[in-house]
Amino acid sequence: MEKVIQKLLKEIYDSGYQAYVVGGYVRDYLLGQTSNDIDVCTDATPKELKEIFPEASIPKDDYGSVIVNQGSLHFEITTFRKEISYQSHRFPVKLEYIKDLYQDLLRRDFTINSICIDQEGSIIDHLHGRRDLELKVIRTIGDAFLKFEQDALRILRAVRFATTLDFELSPETEEAILKHKHLLRELSYERKREELDKIFTSKNAKAGISLLIQLGLDQELELTHLKEVSYTDSLIAIWAVLDVLDLYPFTSNERDLICDIKEAYLCQILDPFNLYKYGLYVSSVAGEMKGESVLEITKAYDALPISSRRDIAVDGDFIAEVLGKEPGPYLKDVYEDLEREILYHNLKNEREAIIQYCLSTYQ
Ligand code: ATP
Ligand code: MG
Repeated sequence: MEKVIQKLLKEIYDSGYQAYVVGGYVRDYLLGQTSNDIDVCTDATPKELKEIFPEASIPKDDYGSVIVNQGSLHFEITTFRKEISYQSHRFPVKLEYIKDLYQDLLRRDFTINSICIDQEGSIIDHLHGRRDLELKVIRTIGDAFLKFEQDALRILRAVRFATTLDFELSPETEEAILKHKHLLRELSYERKREELDKIFTSKNAKAGISLLIQLGLDQELELTHLKEVSYTDSLIAIWAVLDVLDLYPFTSNERDLICDIKEAYLCQILDPFNLYKYGLYVSSVAGEMKGESVLEITKAYDALPISSRRDIAVDGDFIAEVLGKEPGPYLKDVYEDLEREILYHNLKNEREAIIQYCLSTYQ
């Protein structure tokens, strides 16, 4: 464990509180991966933590956690708690700060996320997380049926960890997911998308998608086209195939890309005008979805005589001057015609050739 992390635990400890690294950092560390996001749990309350770390910030939407950034490390320090009641199968609405680590571990989701490291660097593993890391198993802490009923996001987290870590679900965990999968309908599309993005961008995405289908989660997530997704590196291509712009949240940039990819998919990718219109990225993604060679698409794109309107050897004002007219909306059609003629090699992208073409076609 890095010295900076140990130092932060010591600072809390020396102030008279318990403090442990827990969750993803410990799990990934034991699997030989490092992370800059560190979850710490403690019996100090947020108010007490603010006294130890005056620079700490308190996130608006969270309660019971403070954030401390040190260099590139991002610490989320959370007070031990007991979650008493949940709302909409997601949010703990009532919680109680407690003093006991073991009780705090019991409220967590999976055994592999319950392993702790203390300020001396020693591992504390009350719930056999290391055994399950070795067995490569995702197993809920305590009653699986209750865990998923309390918070349905845990269903997607289970599939996400099974995918990213290449682990299996324990039989009881799988059975409980099957029983409670309909609760996924109550989660926000934002939270569902966050987990799905992590599944789709994993190097093991193919297995993750198969697992979602095998468990019947595609139905509950309203991803009716999930079976049509063939593995590609591009996250946006997967969402284009899934065709859920009306349900899931996307940025306007993502929306534009998805629309272009869907449109390009229906066209001849290698056609020079289409390559020019959609650009290399969209053409490659749509081409890959159609099983075409990205290398060939790239070669064809690189061979285009122009890649944007700016590459045409004359500008609009000059064309208007040649035609003896004022510039106006008619130039848009002239431009499009010139683009096509140049892209299909009917016209050289040279000043003189374009002047002659414009005079003979538009005068
Ligand atoms: P990663 O940060 O890699 O996504 P993580 O396991 O650290 O994985 P976080 O969302 O950072 O996930 O949560 C930190 C820890 O808090 C988890 O390891 C787990 O112990 C607990 N936790 C997070 N979300 C839940 C949940 N929905 N139900 C129960 N415990 C949870
Ligand atoms: Mg984390």
